[in-house]
Amino acid sequence: MDTSMNFMDAIISLAKRRGFIFPGSEIYGGLANSWDYGPLGVELKNNIKTEWWKRFVHSRTDMVGIDAALLMNPKVWEASGHLKNFTDPLVECKKCHERFRADQIDIKKLCPKCGAEGMFTEAKQFNLMLKTFLGPAEEQANTVYFRPETAQAMFVNFKNILETTRKRLPFGIAQIGKAFRNEITPGNFIFRTREFEQMEIEYFIEEKEWEKQFEHWLEEMKKWIKHLGISEKNVHYAEIPDGERAHYSKRTIDIEYEFPFGRKELYGLAYRGDYDLKQHMDSSGVDLRYTDPDDPKNKFLPHVIEPSLGVDRTLLAVMLEHYHEEDVPTIKKEGLSSDSAFVATSAKETALAKEEGDEKRVVMRFPKWLAPIKVAILPLSKKEELSKVAKPLYEKLSESFVCEYDETQSIGKRYRRQDEIGTPYCVTVDFDSLNDNSVTIRDRDTMKQERVPIIEIKEILKDKLSQIL
Ligand code: ATP
Repeated sequence: MDTSMNFMDAIISLAKRRGFIFPGSEIYGGLANSWDYGPLGVELKNNIKTEWWKRFVHSRTDMVGIDAALLMNPKVWEASGHLKNFTDPLVECKKCHERFRADQIDIKKLCPKCGAEGMFTEAKQFNLMLKTFLGPAEEQANTVYFRPETAQAMFVNFKNILETTRKRLPFGIAQIGKAFRNEITPGNFIFRTREFEQMEIEYFIEEKEWEKQFEHWLEEMKKWIKHLGISEKNVHYAEIPDGERAHYSKRTIDIEYEFPFGRKELYGLAYRGDYDLKQHMDSSGVDLRYTDPDDPKNKFLPHVIEPSLGVDRTLLAVMLEHYHEEDVPTIKKEGLSSDSAFVATSAKETALAKEEGDEKRVVMRFPKWLAPIKVAILPLSKKEELSKVAKPLYEKLSESFVCEYDETQSIGKRYRRQDEIGTPYCVTVDFDSLNDNSVTIRDRDTMKQERVPIIEIKEILKDKLSQIL
């Protein structure tokens, strides 16, 4: 457990140090369990969301997207059952007044915070919906709720989407967006927060196809997880047994990841029957049935398969998965003992800077498509002759890739910095570049360097970055 939690600390510290994730409102002492994504974090998060959208919306002919409002008519939540049932059991220690989820601790044992015995209150159901008021009067009539999932907006818009897109079954609606839950015990960094982001699909089918479609979406989720570079051994597919599933679901699988703090849910896949459309049809009085285009007399409520994915949990899982500490050669030049002391000045010296010794490097081995920065441009020194070549190169490459420019500290330190944030390629401009119009490309994973003509570099990098591994 200790080493696991050290691992978690290493990730949190790297996230802050390098600009992936900062504590929310930090200069005011923070706001418990809120986090802000920094310059690298937002790139990583956008890469996840864009790839998901490309894969599940743009590359398929049976999917469309929406982007609905966060605040919805409270009747939505009444109909969906959230106002009544979206609860967790809450207990409070009468001694230290800490609150816990009764299903996450053993209430017969000691209080995890103060150690008091037998001091828990009776469990009461606590609703997780986050409330606010619309308009100037803070009264019951103006109460609205931030959505606790993106899913309901897809059911509520079912008719609009059907009429405007004329999709035929089976087809799906996808949405990426924020959701809010007043979690009793948020924590474990970005794993459980009160404000988070989801990527959800509601896939509408005929009832008779549900088993086949469930298998299809399970396979799709497995392929997505593989695409993220997450190893199969860290993922578990937990079938939720009868009695523990929602009453309308004939099959639900929790897809769990081996987080350092335990095996926990990463994603969910559920067969929801026609529960949601039925609830909304009954409550709103609007006919939400689908008309079979080949037999207009045949009207029915489609059934639904729901793959539900958390963006933040994906981001945490990929950071944990791809973080590696390795013993690697130090960049040394004969006679100089540390890489910080060595500043190469020519192509020959860059190549000669054999990575020797036994330094540790932290490297994020993100798949290339995930890496927040694709290319770092590193002039060997701050000298103007070099920046005259390196800066225009930075501008030119930035037209095609997310790039970073760094000219401070030794080249060894700069390579390590890029390794730590997972940059697949570093382009080094040295004094020989001024004569031979070539630069060095260094590969994050192999640490191998190759000399390439500046004129060809964009194409070479394009080719390298389009390779899957
Ligand atoms: P848990 O059991 O961990 O509370 P859940 O079963 O309530 O999760 P779902 O309602 O299935 O979660 O939500 C779908 C996905 O949204 C989850 O698999 C997870 O990735 C993400 N998610 C849910 N709650 C949170 C949260 N509080 N913080 C971050 N991500 C969340």
